[in-house]
Amino acid sequence: AATATSRMQPMDCSEIKITKADKLKPMPELNTLQFGKEFTDHMLIMKWNKDNGWNKPEIVPFGNLSMHPASSVFHYSFECFEGMKAYKDANGVPRLFRPIRNAERMLNTGRRISLPDFDPNQLVEGIKKFVDLESRWVPQERGYSLYIRPTFIGTDSALGVHDVGNAMLFVIASPVGPYYKSGFKAVKLCCSENIVRAWPGGSGHYKLGGNYAPSVVPAREAGKKGFAQILWLYGEEDYVTEVGTMNCFTVWINKNGEKEIITAPLDGMILPGVTRASVLDIARERLAPQGWKITEGKYSMKDVAQAANEGRLLEVFGSGTAALVSPVKAIQYRGKEFSIPLPAGKEAGPITEQISNWILDIQYGKEPNHPWSVPV
Ligand code: PMP
Repeated sequence: AATATSRMQPMDCSEIKITKADKLKPMPELNTLQFGKEFTDHMLIMKWNKDNGWNKPEIVPFGNLSMHPASSVFHYSFECFEGMKAYKDANGVPRLFRPIRNAERMLNTGRRISLPDFDPNQLVEGIKKFVDLESRWVPQERGYSLYIRPTFIGTDSALGVHDVGNAMLFVIASPVGPYYKSGFKAVKLCCSENIVRAWPGGSGHYKLGGNYAPSVVPAREAGKKGFAQILWLYGEEDYVTEVGTMNCFTVWINKNGEKEIITAPLDGMILPGVTRASVLDIARERLAPQGWKITEGKYSMKDVAQAANEGRLLEVFGSGTAALVSPVKAIQYRGKEFSIPLPAGKEAGPITEQISNWILDIQYGKEPNHPWSVPV
């Protein structure tokens, strides 16, 4: 076993073999960009097998993958992914936002489904080199970015549910426009009723592809009734967990009369969002000194409904890489609609907007030398 281990190559992105595309694609018009429809000229690919470890990473022209039909990714969902963005600063330098968090989350998710370990710093290194090569695809305008999709799959070409012996980690990227083309647009939510997204001891807190496909049909049904997203509740108490594919924040005067920003805890029932962590960090740094209590803790939709009835509910917003923040204007719960007041003529409350601006300034490198913004 000792000799086998010593032959295992670790992931190493200090050198990447690059094969450039013969012909580069024309740049799409920025205002026609649709999320995830157009991809850059290249992709980063790393392969692993249990005897040799990680191969030498390669950047190759973007194109189809050829896979054995028995590959474990197709049958047992050995798949996980990440979502992160590169933003261009005023000097034209692409910047990643807390990329180590995504790399660490991918390592953790992969471990849950028997995918191999890697040094998350090496994945960040590979992504930096890839984004540097694709720099022309990172739009400059605020609100625009290059969406980066690291994907990690099991590629064993034999049926049977067992440990992964062959794997592939690839990274593709797609230029994206702002989630809200003309400023914020507050949305209506409906609460999940007979469907549960995550449960204690389950795997809802991992970024597994298998968690997402089952959410599409309920979301479609909610959409038919005029709701943009589902607010996923859990348990007899109707605990608030997440909204759609975003974490959820509630801003209220709590039962003790304190000004509070609260979000569900990392108890295995929610995805540990990078944006969630950033909202919490920045609120603790900049809003706590103004008297705001910042809480990671369980709270229920019953509490939210009561706060709405008593005029204590101030703002609700989702947080995630795609939209950054997404303000909520109403929540349908047990047949009743609870509305969240918005300032006259506005689509987001002051806390939502302030937090969004602070984080955007960091993402686009407007706040100099902020440690969360990593130039490639
Ligand atoms: N919850 C779920 C279920 C998600 O899919 C995402 C998007 N990755 C998030 C929350 C937000 O995570 P992040 O802030 O890292 O994008």
